[in-house]
Amino acid sequence: MRVYFDYNATTPLAPDVLEAMTRAERDLFGNASSVHHFGQQAKAAVDEARSEVAVLIGGDPSELVFTSGGTESDNLALRGVADAAELAGRRRLVASAIEHEAVLNTLKALARKGADPALVTVDASGCVSPDRIREAITDQTAIVSVMHANNEIGVIQPVAAIAGLAHARGAVMHTDAVQSAGKIPVDVKTLGVDLLSISAHKLNGPKGVGALWIRRGTRMQPVMTGGKQERNRRAGTENVPAIVGFGVAARLARAKMESEAVRLAALRDRLEEAILAGVPGTAVNGARSLRVPNTTNVSFDRVEAESLLIALDLEGIAVSTGSACSSGTLEPSHVLRAMGLAAHRTQNSLRFSLGMFSTDAEVDRLVAVLPGLVEKLRTLTRKAV
Ligand code: PLP
Repeated sequence: MRVYFDYNATTPLAPDVLEAMTRAERDLFGNASSVHHFGQQAKAAVDEARSEVAVLIGGDPSELVFTSGGTESDNLALRGVADAAELAGRRRLVASAIEHEAVLNTLKALARKGADPALVTVDASGCVSPDRIREAITDQTAIVSVMHANNEIGVIQPVAAIAGLAHARGAVMHTDAVQSAGKIPVDVKTLGVDLLSISAHKLNGPKGVGALWIRRGTRMQPVMTGGKQERNRRAGTENVPAIVGFGVAARLARAKMESEAVRLAALRDRLEEAILAGVPGTAVNGARSLRVPNTTNVSFDRVEAESLLIALDLEGIAVSTGSACSSGTLEPSHVLRAMGLAAHRTQNSLRFSLGMFSTDAEVDRLVAVLPGLVEKLRTLTRKAV
């Protein structure tokens, strides 16, 4: 039995998505910018998907720009606004220290070109404090970027309160909703943001497609220059089958969100309780009450996360040490570090993330093998020292 508990890294395609994409690959080969029948068919499919994705986040379809994924959406948001705001002398870029690398490394790149980034840490619960954000925002601030839900610990951030603070100083507000869209309600108006990033492959859609919602009137420059696609905001021929798949995935996610949230939270809570009760020296990282329903992040005293991850993989169970981009290295999690956790916990934690095909039987399997594996690794460590 193979068990997949790494849905925050990526998800399998929903069967309906695969079907729609296969049909689009075969039948919708036209260029969505072409005037003839083939082009118009492709354009109609892109527009239908645009509406589905826009509805998922409560935005207007005309404000949605398709991109190659969450990373590009974050880049477009930050670089696009930084570029436009530079003319007005606004060089400060404020973000939380627990953002995804797509934001953090973009800020680093912008700093090399003269921007002035400020990263704000979080408390032990994994929440960004609006007060700390307020202190970092100046009248020269171009953009504030705080993610909606964190990918490693699942903790939901006070985006609406922070958006108010950004706007009070004339700054643009961006949120990376890659890990919340499709899992919990996401509404651009309730959140009060100007820019919102999402990615299809986190919600049972295809990899390599995402979107940035841009509130009408937001001043920004394109990053990808070329043709006039996406209302001049993102040049390049649209990836029609991927966009079609994204649309279907968004529709399914919306239809099933409520029931899936209840089902996954119950599975996740059972998994979590079983670990805490069955494995001594474990603790959940981050506020348990304020999370997306599918994620838990647990630290295991005296066990290196990477070793436990490999031991679980040998048993057919896939989990993660946190951000997919940093797995394969032994670097401590930047998220857990920003929460002020002790050094041993930042390196001893595993993320379990559930999704569409997760079952009770899979949780049972994990619960059956995990205590023994942890005990074995702890014994080996004791012998080694
Ligand atoms: N932002 C967050 C919070 C993520 O979790 C991820 C993916 O891991 C990304 C951005 C990047 O999205 P993509 O893989 O579509 O480029």
